[in-house]
Amino acid sequence: MAHRRMTVLAMGLLCAMATSAFGADRHMVAAAHPRAAEAGLAMLEAGGTPADAAVAVQTVLGLVEPQSSGLGGGAFALYWDASERKLYTFDARETAPKAARPERFLEADGKRMKFWRAVIGGQSVGVPGTVRLLEVLHKKFGKRRWGDLFAPAKRLARDGFEVSPRLAASIAKARGLDRFPETKAYFFAADGAPLAPGARLGNPAYLKTLRALADRGADAFYTGDIAAEIVAAARATTIGPPTITAEDLAAYRVIERSPVCLDYRGRNVCGMGPPTSGGIAVGQILGLLRGFDMAALGPGPASAHLIAEAEKLAYADRARYLGDSDFVPVPVQGLLDAGYLADRAKAIDPKRAGPKADAGEPPSRRGWRPPAGDPREGNGTSHFVIRGANGDALSITTTIESGFGSRVMVAGFLLNNELTDFDFQPTREGRPVANRVEGGKRPRSSMSPTIVFEDGAPVLLIGSPGGSRIITYVAQALVAILDWKMTPQAAVAQGHGLHRNGKALELEADTEAAGWAAALRVLGHTVKLRPLTSGLHAIQIRDGALTGGADPRREGVVLGR
Ligand code: GLU
Repeated sequence: MAHRRMTVLAMGLLCAMATSAFGADRHMVAAAHPRAAEAGLAMLEAGGTPADAAVAVQTVLGLVEPQSSGLGGGAFALYWDASERKLYTFDARETAPKAARPERFLEADGKRMKFWRAVIGGQSVGVPGTVRLLEVLHKKFGKRRWGDLFAPAKRLARDGFEVSPRLAASIAKARGLDRFPETKAYFFAADGAPLAPGARLGNPAYLKTLRALADRGADAFYTGDIAAEIVAAARATTIGPPTITAEDLAAYRVIERSPVCLDYRGRNVCGMGPPTSGGIAVGQILGLLRGFDMAALGPGPASAHLIAEAEKLAYADRARYLGDSDFVPVPVQGLLDAGYLADRAKAIDPKRAGPKADAGEPPSRRGWRPPAGDPREGNGTSHFVIRGANGDALSITTTIESGFGSRVMVAGFLLNNELTDFDFQPTREGRPVANRVEGGKRPRSSMSPTIVFEDGAPVLLIGSPGGSRIITYVAQALVAILDWKMTPQAAVAQGHGLHRNGKALELEADTEAAGWAAALRVLGHTVKLRPLTSGLHAIQIRDGALTGGADPRREGVVLGR
């Protein structure tokens, strides 16, 4: 074998999965499924860049981890171009159809629609961005022939792959996955039983789609037969609101945006700006912690308290200010302003839990102040990181929103339900909500793909799925690696403690974090123990050595050479 792979078993977790973590010095990929990581590594071994490898990883993930991401979804990607020494950030978020209106998720009587009623069916489907993103990445940074990048996914779609324990468990517990015939036929056996772990699954429709993409590029998806199938499937399954049209698909654009960066103890931590709240919120949490000696505290209840208090302040701002900045004014610089954060940090008492936090008044705020709610966010997301031998680096979070998205399957892949990431309530206290539905708008996200720089070069690539908890998973792992000097594997495996400015501080059940509960209650927190299923993947780069981490809560691996 061209690569070394060490398998270690994660300890102390209920759903412990085999994972691998080791060093390399040439190139590395960490992704949520072994077949996807292998596909990425094969492209790197063939002289490909992280952009080339991303096409292989994503097309395989869409097949073997279909509940989490795929061609029918969207993504945010950070790409470091080593030759240019430039960080690019790409917004490939799903977009509301032009005809979408703010009342989309209200019932006839004006009440908020029940979440699952909104999710299942064509009304929740946003125009997918992932396919165009892969093409943009390849055109800008790729070295291998586009058509060749689909080979691993084509092979698995044709020959079949083994249904993993996690996929089987997700099928068994998913709501409404048997609602639409095409989806039911794919995920259930002939006798109606959900597919079992180890079952062999091929996907001829996906193979046909991959062939079209390999031959004709992303246009094969956004125009022509596949586009017509998407439009028809969304229309046939909607509970009413207008669904995406051929014009919406043809008009889809990936938007290159400015990175959102913040200095944390001499490192430049960079993330994605709006329409995700991720980059700003992760930056705010770190910025609020700058004045505390986190290194001296180390992991434990005292640092979990400080992180929770910082998170409360960040989530309060997130709820008030974050939405698609092409539609609402988002004071990005103000929210990350050093003076503003230092002032906000004064509210953090190391000895006592504060009340629920209110949003602050960032200095560059302009225009009206939109209040915003906090819609529920799902579990249909995956994060992967790739470092190439040429020094390029990629950190990408990719999603279809809820596990199995809208449940609508066309051409071998699932369509997202990303539109339920909008706030269902268009107004609050008589004012328009920042994250309300609007035609052509992108729903607010929490996805937080991150790259950390030291002396102008990337030293850490990281991100996670996990709905609105993504921000906290990433922030805690950053503190663990940057302040506590944990290895990426130890950092992604540690038990989580987090606070989203709701009722309780959440601690991950059955981990060391659960043991912090008593001390945190003494500080005044309401504490809740629960499973916290992150899916962190990380690569650290130090003196030319690459070290990876794959979250033991999922099925991912790190591979490299
Ligand atoms: N749709 C969510 C977002 O964009 C992510 C959902 C998840 O992580 O499962 O923030």
